[in-house]
Amino acid sequence: MIWYPYEQMKTMRPPYQIVDAEGVYLYTKDQKLIDSVSSWWSVIHGYKHPELDRAIEEQLGKFAHVMLGGLTHEAAQKLSDKLQSWLPGDLDYCFFSDSGSVAVEVALKMALQYFMNRGETARTKVLALEHAYHGDTFKTMEVGDDEDYHFVLNAYGKSQHVIHIPTEIQALEQAFEVHHETLNCFIAEPLLQGAGGMRMYDISFLKRARELCDQYGVLLIFDEVATGFGRTGNRFVADLVLPDILVLGKALTGGYIGHAVTAANHRVYDGFYDENPEHALMHGPTFMGNALACSVALKSIELFESQDYLGKIRRIEEISRQEMEGFSDPRVKEVRIMGGCVCVEVYDPADIKGYQQFAYERGVFSRPFLSYLYAMVPYVIREEELRKVFRTMKEWFAR
Ligand SMILES: *Cc1c(COP(=O)(O)O)cnc(C)c1O
Repeated sequence: MIWYPYEQMKTMRPPYQIVDAEGVYLYTKDQKLIDSVSSWWSVIHGYKHPELDRAIEEQLGKFAHVMLGGLTHEAAQKLSDKLQSWLPGDLDYCFFSDSGSVAVEVALKMALQYFMNRGETARTKVLALEHAYHGDTFKTMEVGDDEDYHFVLNAYGKSQHVIHIPTEIQALEQAFEVHHETLNCFIAEPLLQGAGGMRMYDISFLKRARELCDQYGVLLIFDEVATGFGRTGNRFVADLVLPDILVLGKALTGGYIGHAVTAANHRVYDGFYDENPEHALMHGPTFMGNALACSVALKSIELFESQDYLGKIRRIEEISRQEMEGFSDPRVKEVRIMGGCVCVEVYDPADIKGYQQFAYERGVFSRPFLSYLYAMVPYVIREEELRKVFRTMKEWFAR
């Protein structure tokens, strides 16, 4: 029996049974649904994409997987070469893992060990944002600020190793002033905080963070597991402000297979590179660099480049603004739009209860959570399909 995610099994509504998926559509036995969630924001090219399918089939003809412990292979090498040339700045060193949470763990471990390797043993703390979400594993829960994990706080008390601040420059400056001697890194979901409620903030905050990190020697980590590959309208937010470590996941493989990468710059890599075996990075997920995942990720990036995906995302943002900007209803607190993300926040979660079934009956798959109704569509969506996603939302409020 399947134990489903984030659900009280006793009271959950049975999940929709998907029997086929193609393009932006999910198929149940009797309904065709536009996937407005892109399977947790990852399926940017849509389902059953012929070129992505072919990339996997080709690799499958050779082998599905070999470990990176003592072995290596072309699919992982080609992907790391591609990322090295494609990612901004000198984020040249790719550490692969099987999920975003693990890749964030790796980034946090890198930041801590970087300073331990240098003998700076007081640098044990992480600066993070309020409402942050960085994954479901223990360290990422601790660094995140998700109400669902407050049982951990109840059990262990507030972490002595994480400081949470709001996305305000004054709070940022103050945190650095007070804690700079004990900080190893500042980690953020840049510009768009996803699971914490699709919260959007200004680039000036991140520019100031970069300056303060430079001033105090603190490492800057961008968790772009959700924002990477165009979701904010930028290819990566790292194109605007350069972090020392960049974490990518979700859309990395076009949503085909779980895989993630922690890309470090030269400074970080050099902090591990010497004669001392204790200075090595002690991490190695069993399925890191999985050959099927790497081959589909490479093809996904090639599509992103060759098919003008940033143009597609600009078009999505334009239509989103036409449909949703200025939309108001007494129940709606705010409408937020950025790149390929639209969020309608309501005052009372009860006001969107039942929306999922309402949308299902109209041919849209949606998965609202708490007080957030949102769309993060596959970038290949057509104009009329996208308008249908928003009109379904507006229809709900018009009842
Ligand atoms: C989804 C997500 C993660 C976790 O990725 P998984 O692959 O689910 O482990 C981490 N950080 C951010 C910002 C995410 O959105």
